[in-house]
Amino acid sequence: MKRVLITGAAGFLGSHLCDRFIKEGYHVIGMDNLITGDLRNIEHLFALKEFEFYNHDVSKFVHVPGQLDYILHFASPASPIDYLKIPIQTLKVGSLGTHNLLGLAKSKGARILVASTSEVYGDPTVHPQNEDYWGNVNPIGPRGVYDEAKRFQEAITMAYHTYHGVETRIVRIFNTYGPRMRLNDGRVLPAFIGQALRGEDLTIFGDGSQTRSFCYVDDLVEGIYRLLLSDYAYPVNVGNPDEITIAEFAEEIIKLTGTDQKVVYKPLPVDDPKQRQPDITRARSILGWEPKINRAEGLRITYDYFRSLSKERLYEEAHHKDFGKYKN
Ligand code: UDP
Repeated sequence: MKRVLITGAAGFLGSHLCDRFIKEGYHVIGMDNLITGDLRNIEHLFALKEFEFYNHDVSKFVHVPGQLDYILHFASPASPIDYLKIPIQTLKVGSLGTHNLLGLAKSKGARILVASTSEVYGDPTVHPQNEDYWGNVNPIGPRGVYDEAKRFQEAITMAYHTYHGVETRIVRIFNTYGPRMRLNDGRVLPAFIGQALRGEDLTIFGDGSQTRSFCYVDDLVEGIYRLLLSDYAYPVNVGNPDEITIAEFAEEIIKLTGTDQKVVYKPLPVDDPKQRQPDITRARSILGWEPKINRAEGLRITYDYFRSLSKERLYEEAHHKDFGKYKN
């Protein structure tokens, strides 16, 4: 049985990856320090003998007993409001954490895939963004802690590949959505759906003309699975190129939820990218991958998930509000 370590296992993407690898017949070792992750995302796996879980911060030395075939490094705060609250943890997990996991991959002879991001392109001046674009990132802005950690992550991953011959894969993930996103993580989709379900106005930041391109989580997981099993070591964009303005997106959510909420306008966060759309030519040609689930279908599934949550959860504050204890 092949053994895979998934960091960030209790997070949105990490938990879906755990499910996928269990389904494919792997032994899955999940790791998470639960700062932004939530055990409720993986509690259905605890009864399985093919699944084990370590509560550990990968910024510190990582020890896993036994053989490892694959490592997927998905631990990181990933939502702007999270990494604004825990900027140093964000920098450490992308840099020190990646270094530890590359060292682990080297010592075990494992292949490692790291989760990079469209944020390496910053506020892009090229549209759509392909993998050869170097980006437009403000290193000292509020998003810099995430963007630069991920850029460092790519650099050290390539260095372990070229210098140590470690088998590495880099996926650049664009906006992704689906069940198990945290309702209160501040990102646009859970924010809008949560507001609609609570009967609040939908908050559009700026004038709503900024664009994003949203990928349904199952499509993303399929792209990642294919990349891991490919022999391609350079970065690959995985995302859905179907681009929409945030104002149009708010309208779609209002229609979907059948509510008559209004929209209210709030200030645009600093360095909020004006446009974002993946060029997925590389994923199409190398992985034979493209998204299959359109936004109407994906939003419906996601809405049904959020609707099924308890009322308490709908009103739950950030359940990790005590970020203070992670100061370092
Ligand atoms: N946004 C918004 N209202 C919200 C939350 C987000 O208008 O309540 C906007 C945000 O300013 C950004 C876009 O939606 O332009 C996507 O934001 P998100 O935080 O989901 O992810 P990002 O792509 O910026 O990392």
